[in-house]
Amino acid sequence: MYGTMNIIPAGNSVICGAELDSAQRPADEKTLAPLPQHDVEMILMEIDPICKMEVDPKTAKWKSNYGGKDFFFCAPGCKKAFDKDPQKYLK
Ligand SMILES: [Zn+2]
Repeated sequence: MYGTMNIIPAGNSVICGAELDSAQRPADEKTLAPLPQHDVEMILMEIDPICKMEVDPKTAKWKSNYGGKDFFFCAPGCKKAFDKDPQKYLK
């Protein structure tokens, strides 16, 4: 659906029209290979050693460093449990 031109205020339509013109040339649509570049995100997930949940280190709020390695947790409770007895979870 690209029918947004109708609801764009007249003041912006010129700029927006120009952008659409260059961004949506038919030639581009054909040459653009259907590579799912935005779907395939190379996220290296860390495993929460407590509950074995996958945790994204980029967004993880709780982490601990033990033995020179970073560990990531899904919740403060998991970090707490790990900090209390890291060895127990690193078997
Ligand atoms: Zn957890």
